[in-house]
Amino acid sequence: MKCHILTLFPDMVLEGLRTSILGRAEEKGLLSLHGVNIRDFAENKHNRVDDAPYGGGAGLVMQPGPVYSAWRSVAETCERQPRVIYLTPQGRVFNQEIAGELAEEEELIFLCGHYEGIDERVLELIVTDYLSIGDYVLTGGELAAMVVIDSVARLVPGVLHNDASAEIETFSDSLLEYPQYTRPEEFMGKKVPEVLLSGHHGNVDKWRREQSVLRTARSRPDLLKKAALTEAEQELAEKELRKTLDFHGEM
Ligand code: SAM
Repeated sequence: MKCHILTLFPDMVLEGLRTSILGRAEEKGLLSLHGVNIRDFAENKHNRVDDAPYGGGAGLVMQPGPVYSAWRSVAETCERQPRVIYLTPQGRVFNQEIAGELAEEEELIFLCGHYEGIDERVLELIVTDYLSIGDYVLTGGELAAMVVIDSVARLVPGVLHNDASAEIETFSDSLLEYPQYTRPEEFMGKKVPEVLLSGHHGNVDKWRREQSVLRTARSRPDLLKKAALTEAEQELAEKELRKTLDFHGEM
């Protein structure tokens, strides 16, 4: 998968993403990260790429020309036009399902805004998808692009050491993941649950599934609506939900 990132701060994005797993994926040729500095396409000798908003108001707006030229420098090199994702608090809220959908693409372009955002006209011309990483406002789209690229890239086959780990974790079937433990068997008086030491895979799987249902009922009951639960699991979830409601009622 190839990701082009149009930004005023390519080093921030590339250095962050090239640490650890994605860096190794790039070395193995599974992923290619390409930063494009929008400032390199400034249309004046001071390298300015922003200006005051028409109509007045606070802050500065990124000008359409440099953004368009930065996009064109990438688009010209592509056989098929890749989707262009503008990171914005006004976009569709990103989630694991969208990550899975984007992981199918061979090439993607990410556009990061700064200041008050980007002139609407260039967005209308080049953007195909508007994505937000949550209902809060960041100073720039770089962190948001990193979040999206990280979660998309780890779904590309071969990027994770063991592809199965992406299939059975939180959100994979609308449930949160079960708790994880590693050595030592006892830490500050707290023991690893007995069943995990039993070597009985059937019991381990059953315990993990139950823990997933319980955790989801406790922390993210909204997810349960989409989860495929057996009747017994449904009952378990409802019992846990009632306990949580009773607890909050007592507070
Ligand atoms: N004035 C804009 C508004 O009210 O919609 C916010 C601009 S924000 C200060 C600057 C840039 O940060 C945006 O252009 C966008 O690229 C990025 N950004 C801010 N919050 C974001 C979020 N929740 N998700 C994705 N990108 C975000």
